[in-house]
Amino acid sequence: MSWKERVIGIEELRPYLPNKSEPDFRGLVEGLAEQQLATWPMLRDAVAGLARVEYKGLRVRGSEVLAQFNPQRIVSTGAKVDAAAIKQRPCFLCAENLPPEERGIAFGADFVALYNPFPVLPRHLVITSRRHIPQAIEGNFGTLLDLALDLGGEFFVVYNGAACGASAPDHLHFQACERKSLPIIREVDTWKGRSLSNDSGVETFTLKDYRLNALITRGNNRAALIEWFDRALQRLAEITGAESEPMINLVVTRDGGRWTVIVFPRGKHRPDRYFAEGDAKLTVSPAAIDLAGVLVVPQPDHFAKITSRDAEEIYAEVTLNKTVFDTWLRSE
Ligand SMILES: [Zn+2]
Repeated sequence: MSWKERVIGIEELRPYLPNKSEPDFRGLVEGLAEQQLATWPMLRDAVAGLARVEYKGLRVRGSEVLAQFNPQRIVSTGAKVDAAAIKQRPCFLCAENLPPEERGIAFGADFVALYNPFPVLPRHLVITSRRHIPQAIEGNFGTLLDLALDLGGEFFVVYNGAACGASAPDHLHFQACERKSLPIIREVDTWKGRSLSNDSGVETFTLKDYRLNALITRGNNRAALIEWFDRALQRLAEITGAESEPMINLVVTRDGGRWTVIVFPRGKHRPDRYFAEGDAKLTVSPAAIDLAGVLVVPQPDHFAKITSRDAEEIYAEVTLNKTVFDTWLRSE
């Protein structure tokens, strides 16, 4: 099945749309949810499963973290993402390998929005490139901003770097979910910030004594944000000695006429305890949503035992340490 066949046209979607007017992208995404829930049992089961996930509230240095017991996510958390394993498996983001019932909405000429059959949060979308090209943010950051704009204020959008939690590092894609339960989005507005700069329509700041080192930028000028991001990424690559893309996760929201971009520079992909044996083992593999405060724990015994202290250690371990982070900020 090609993308042409996968992408659902407005006429086919019409019975699932709430009214007769011409819907925008957001409206089509809503209609797609109805169509997919009606015709794709796997997604229906997954969404029902999401309603049953359990949460455990943790406090990490005063910040809210929700540990989420979500057994469906073992597929992603436990995914082998080394080059050999990736080469051997059929790519699950290529049109010909998707389940037959899976349909999508075109996003621009190059991307298709699909519903994720392994959701972490409600309305979990995967926005995949029509081409099987490697996961990379260079040249695609503008698309991420456009996606946040077109989905609107109820969503957040995500980029997971190829070596930072993306389970398809070989196929360019973004994700999006409903934003209301994501702790960091509230905390960005309420936590004590440290302003770094505010010029050319781009404001940058960090959160003081926060549970991890994140750089936040805000602005309403798309071109200025892209220019800022490209420079910041380049400097991060230099400072961390990255040969290709530096390790990052991104969360982007859009409201009040401006974008907010949260950049999580990474120190490593998976914490040591992911690979530990026995009691010390904790199957947690952080990507953007985990860093943003919904920490997915697919194993029941690991969910039962995880503490605020464990979460604090994991965040510190997989994000960029303060010395290198501060060097990066000073290079602004
Ligand atoms: Zn692919």
